[in-house]
Amino acid sequence: QMIFLSGKFVKKEEAVVSVYDHGFLYGDGVFEGIRVYSGNVFRLENHLKRLYESAHSIMLTIPYTLEEMTQIIVETVRINELQSAYIRVVVSRGQGNLGLDPSSCSMPRVIVIAEELTLYPKELYERGLKVGSVATRRNRPDVLSPQIKSLNYLNNILVKLEANQAGVDEALMLNDQGYVTEGSADNIFIIKNGIIYTPPVYLGALEGITRNAIIELARTNGYELKEQPFTRHDVYIADEVFLTGTAVEVIAVNEVDTRQIKDGKPGPITTHLLNEFRKLVTTDGVQ
Ligand code: PLP
Repeated sequence: QMIFLSGKFVKKEEAVVSVYDHGFLYGDGVFEGIRVYSGNVFRLENHLKRLYESAHSIMLTIPYTLEEMTQIIVETVRINELQSAYIRVVVSRGQGNLGLDPSSCSMPRVIVIAEELTLYPKELYERGLKVGSVATRRNRPDVLSPQIKSLNYLNNILVKLEANQAGVDEALMLNDQGYVTEGSADNIFIIKNGIIYTPPVYLGALEGITRNAIIELARTNGYELKEQPFTRHDVYIADEVFLTGTAVEVIAVNEVDTRQIKDGKPGPITTHLLNEFRKLVTTDGVQ
C-alpha cells in the first residue's frame, strides 16, 4: 500500500510524521473521508470544496490547487489499484515547535490514504442500529462551526465513548437547546406520515455530502422533505429513522433510547432511499 505523504508516495510502513506536527500535538488541521465505488471517486468536488473551505476558515493554506489535489487523490487510488475504497485526506498545520502558535509551522502537511473498504456487516443494515442520546452536546456553531471538519474531533469522540458505555451502536447528539443534531459522524433523518425530516445544519450538524445526496434523491423520487428542528420525542414516535454518512451510506435505526422505532425493522422509505443511493454512487463520480 502506497500513501501520499508531503509530496511523494511512500510505503505504508514508511508513512510516519513528526511528533512535532501540530496535527498531532493540537489537532490543528482538517480532513475528509471519501468513498470510491467501482473506481469512481464519489462527489470528489464536494469533498474538496468542504476541505478547502474548512482550511480557509482556520487560515490553513493547502499547498496545492484544487486541480492538483484532485490529481493526487485520483493517483492515490490508481497506484493502489483500488475499485472500492475509503480515502482519508488529511491536511495538518505541519511541523512546528511545542508552542501552540501556528506561526512556528512553516509547511502544511498533506496526507492521502486510500485503502480497501471494510464494509459494515450486512446484518446491521437488515437489523438496524441501536442508538442512544448522550450528555455531551454538539459544540455551539457560534463558538466553533460544525462545518469545519477539523482534526480536533474530541467532541465526537466523547460522544462515541458515551455510546460505547451505554452499549448502543451509535450516539444521538443534541445541541445546547436539546434539539437533535446528528450522530458521532453521521447525519440523521426521521420520517413521519410519509414526510422526511432532517435537522437544519445551523442547529449544529455537519452538512454531510451523503445527507445532501439523500435530500436530492428524496425530492427527485417525489418525497416531501423538510429541514426542520426536532426533539428526541419526535425521533421516538417516528415511523422510520435512519443515519447517513460516507462510511455508513444509509442505515436504518431500529431503537432510540430503548424505544423501538415502529415495528423495529428498516422501513420502506429508508430501504428505497438506500437502493437509490447505491444506484447513484455507480454513476456519479470522478474516474
Ligand atoms: N457529521 C459528522 C460530525 C461527520 O464527521 C460526518 C462524516 O464525515 C458526517 C456527519 C457525515 O458527512 P458525510 O456524509 O459528508 O460523510
